[in-house]
Amino acid sequence: MSRVEEARHQKGPLSLDCDVVVIGSGAGGMVAATILAEAGLDVIVLEEGKHVPNPVQGKLRQSESLRHLWRDGGMSVAFGLGGAPTVNVTAGVGVGGSSILTGGVCLRVPDAILAPWSRELGLDELTPEGLDPYYREVEEAIHVEEVPVEMQSRSTQLYGEGAAKLGHPIRPLTRNTEGCNGCGRCNFGCPEGAKLSVDLSYLPRLLAAGGRLWSDCLVESIVHDRGRARGVRGRLLNRPGRKRGDRLEVRAARVVVACGGLHTPLLLKSSGLAGLGSQVGRNLTLHPGFRVFAEFDEEVRGWSGAMQSAYSDAYEHENVTLMSLFIPGSVIAATMPGAGAALHARAERLPYIAMFGAMIHDEGPGVVRRGLGREPFVTYRMSPRDKRAMFRGIRLNAETFFAAGAKRVYLPVLGAEPFTADEFRRFELERVPGSRIESGSQHPLGSCQMGTSAGRSAVDPDGLLWDAENVYVCDGSVLPTSLGVNPQLTIMAMATRIARKLAARVRHRRAS
Ligand SMILES: Cc1cc2nc3c(=O)[nH]c(=O)nc-3n(C[C@H](O)[C@H](O)[C@H](O)COP(=O)(O)OP(=O)(O)OC[C@H]3O[C@@H](n4cnc5c(N)ncnc54)[C@H](O)[C@@H]3O)c2cc1C
Ligand code: SF4
Repeated sequence: MSRVEEARHQKGPLSLDCDVVVIGSGAGGMVAATILAEAGLDVIVLEEGKHVPNPVQGKLRQSESLRHLWRDGGMSVAFGLGGAPTVNVTAGVGVGGSSILTGGVCLRVPDAILAPWSRELGLDELTPEGLDPYYREVEEAIHVEEVPVEMQSRSTQLYGEGAAKLGHPIRPLTRNTEGCNGCGRCNFGCPEGAKLSVDLSYLPRLLAAGGRLWSDCLVESIVHDRGRARGVRGRLLNRPGRKRGDRLEVRAARVVVACGGLHTPLLLKSSGLAGLGSQVGRNLTLHPGFRVFAEFDEEVRGWSGAMQSAYSDAYEHENVTLMSLFIPGSVIAATMPGAGAALHARAERLPYIAMFGAMIHDEGPGVVRRGLGREPFVTYRMSPRDKRAMFRGIRLNAETFFAAGAKRVYLPVLGAEPFTADEFRRFELERVPGSRIESGSQHPLGSCQMGTSAGRSAVDPDGLLWDAENVYVCDGSVLPTSLGVNPQLTIMAMATRIARKLAARVRHRRAS
């Protein structure tokens, strides 16, 4: 097989055998599968979503991209409990997973956040030195480079001017790009093939090494005898409307689950691999994000320039990362307050709008449970520390834009009108109930945390599920804490490490 097989064209059931079956072809799954195939194992990857090749991704309208490549059309939420906001959680579904929707940001975990993994959680190998070779390998494979300052949008430049005045200067971001022209469409598929998501960087290697990848394959359960997996079962999405069709069965000596932070725990639970007291589905973190828009007198045209180009980690000690972004004008207009003529008048000011985000290094926790349909039911709480960080991030961004000369800011407070600098000074932001704060997350993490004991974690330090003999987890759900920075690079580095260890284990077993 030297190309992706699309099960939507398959007539009749599919029954296959291999050494390792990998479920999910996103940042974690695709990398792990590639490493395992290159180590000489017979690997099959099963992906629920479609295969939309990169040139086609770049031609989709934004609404088409949402329909074909975003899970649930981008509408999934984690319901806020105990004064936490309800968070819109987005993820990709398709060959390449969420990796094809990223803004391309690639950052290593800051040392201060990584240090407790070895010091407090006992994960001795997860130190800056221990992870460095894996990071390097991935950075090379996906071409991580610094975003040139010339590619910053005027929106980011204005924020940078305010940040410099207030003493938290912005720094260039690093992204997985080669030949980026700054068109700003990253979240809907790169029209230039310049963003090296895993379908461009790892998939060709996987296929060259003899790995097989089937799209349109929904895995419904892991087949096992009291924790010893024998393979997986599911359905091909080969009926009209992508409905569940023929049976799917893959027999394998090992199973790697890489369905992402929301679906990995769901699959493990529905397979009976999360026993009483199991940590599977608990400890979810989200990196909740909060956008602040600012209106200037000058024309900003924030859509011109790289979508994400700069950030500030000056408030890392307060668990806040300030991050440049510019979302599509249609989405900005849709989130402005007002209706009819008033909303229209505001939307006409779009060229004068700048924007910056704040993301928090959260503790949560959230819980992933089985829902009524295909998607999980997710709840999310915020620790007092998280709530402080949330308000701090919003406040910092508003103050930074005013320092840069903004006339008004739009806060992520549902129902609130835009604020002038005087109005903002008088506004008691920290007294707003969390349920009125508008928040988005692209980083569901930690729902099958790695740790050193079954009572406190879901997988062991090598990614092996505590409740099984031969089921590994290899995606964002294993991260022991949230990162405070965008996670794809760390997920890929961790997947490389877990896959290398698994390959060594197989080699050792075969040799003995
Ligand atoms: C809009 C957006 C922008 C982002 N921007 C950035 C960024 O700039 N930088 C960054 O670092 N991170 C970014 N991220 C986050 C990053 O993409 C994810 O953290 C990362 O891809 C997660 O990897 P994963 O392997 O855990 O899951 P995913 O990449 O989500 O892959 C999981 C795959 O499993 C498949 N799957 C699920 N269940 C099943 C099943 N039962 N059977 C078969 N297949 C299944 C899914 O369809 C999916 O393809 C962004 C995410 C989004 C959504
Ligand atoms: S900004 Fe660069 S990486 Fe993003 S879509 Fe445009 S060309 Fe691709």
